[in-house]
Amino acid sequence: MDIQKIRGDFPIFERRINGKPIVYFDSAATTQKPRQVIDTLSNYYANHCANIHRGVHTLSQESSELYEEARRTVARFINADEREIVFVRNTTEAINLVSTCLKGEGQILSTVTEHHSNLLPWGRSRDVDYVDIDAHGRIDVEDLKGKLQKPTLLVAVTHVSNVLGLINPVEAVIAEARKNGALTLVDAAQSAPHMEIDVKAMGCDFLVFSGHKMLAPSGIGVLYVREELYERMEPYLMGGSTIKEAHLGSYVPEEPPTCYEAGTPNIEGAIALASAIDYLSDIGMENVLAHDKALMALALERMKAIDNVELYGSLDPTDRLSVITFNVKGMGCHGVAKVLNLRENIMIRSGFHCAQPLHDRLGIGPTARMSFYIYNTPEEIELAAELLGKIAEFI
Ligand code: PLP
Repeated sequence: MDIQKIRGDFPIFERRINGKPIVYFDSAATTQKPRQVIDTLSNYYANHCANIHRGVHTLSQESSELYEEARRTVARFINADEREIVFVRNTTEAINLVSTCLKGEGQILSTVTEHHSNLLPWGRSRDVDYVDIDAHGRIDVEDLKGKLQKPTLLVAVTHVSNVLGLINPVEAVIAEARKNGALTLVDAAQSAPHMEIDVKAMGCDFLVFSGHKMLAPSGIGVLYVREELYERMEPYLMGGSTIKEAHLGSYVPEEPPTCYEAGTPNIEGAIALASAIDYLSDIGMENVLAHDKALMALALERMKAIDNVELYGSLDPTDRLSVITFNVKGMGCHGVAKVLNLRENIMIRSGFHCAQPLHDRLGIGPTARMSFYIYNTPEEIELAAELLGKIAEFI
C-alpha cells in the first residue's frame, strides 16, 4: 500500500491548522472522503440527477441504473445477492428496521459490548437479555450458550467493538444461535470498512453497516437480509416505492428490497458508496486489514510503554482492529483530547462512544479513543505517543 499516494487522494489532508497538518484519528466515528468519492457525487449532480424508478426519460433511466448498479456493487462486496441489499440511512436505521419489521416470538440476545444502536432498538418492544464479555473483553460464547436455553428469536452482536476494537467470535456466536434455532444480526459498522466480509461464509441472517465509516457520504447505510427472511418481515414505512399499485383502501405490495426503501432514497449516497467500495477494492481489503494491523501493533507497543496510561481490552494486536481506547491517569479524557488537538491537531474521540453499558461493565468512566484507517501513518502514531508520553509525565 502506498500511503502517500492514498493520502494524496484526500483533499482534507492538504489543510493546515495553525500551520500544521491534521492527524485524523477518529475514523471509527466517521472517515474522511477521497477525491474519487467527492467526484462521483459532483458528477452525479452535474450529469445524471433525477428521481429513480419513476420516469421513462433519459436522466431517470440513468439515475435508476446507477442506483441499482450500486446495489450490485454492495452485494458483491459482501458476497450477497442484490435482492438481499436494502439501502438505509445508516447502521442505526438498519437495526431499527429489523427490530420493527421482523415477526416472531422469543427473546432477543444482545451483548454488553454493543453500541447503543444495537441495544436500544431491541428493548423498545421485546424481551432482551445481554450476553457478557470474557476476561479479554470479547463476547463470552459460554455465557451465550447458557442464555440460549430460553427460546430466542435473534442474537444481535457486533463484529468489532467500537470501544475495545476487539474482533468478536461471530462465527461461533452464529453457530450457537443456529443450533438453538435463533436468527443472527451482525453489526459490521466497525468491521466492513476494514476487512473482507462474506455473509455466506459467515452464515448470518442480517448484517448492517454505514457508508460514512468507509469513505462514503453520511446518510447511506446497508442492511443485508438473507433472502428467505423477507417472508418473516413486513415493511414498516409505506408510500412511494413500496407498492406495485394502489387504490383507495387497497394496494399490491412491491417486492423486496424496494418495498423497504419507502420514498425517494439517498440515490447519490448509494452511488457514492459504490465508488467508495471501488476505491477500497482497488487497494484490496486484505491490504487495508494488514495496514490496520500494523498500525495497531505499533500503537499498542508505544502506548504500553507509557507510564500512567491505562489501556482496555486484550492487548494482543492480533485480537484488535483499528481502535485503541485508553485513559491517562489523573486527567479526564476530554482534557487529553483537547491537548492533543491543540498541540498537534491530533483529533481523537473522548466520552462513552455510544457504548456506556460497556464502560459500566468494565467499571470505568469515559475514555479517550484513537482509531486508524488507510490514510494514517506510523509517523502519526509516533507523534501521538510522544505527546501522550509528555502529558502522562506532566500529570
Ligand atoms: N454500531 C457500531 C459498532 C458503531 O461503531 C456505530 C457508530 O459508531 C454504530 C453502530 C452506529 O452507526 P451509525 O451512527 O452510522 O448509525
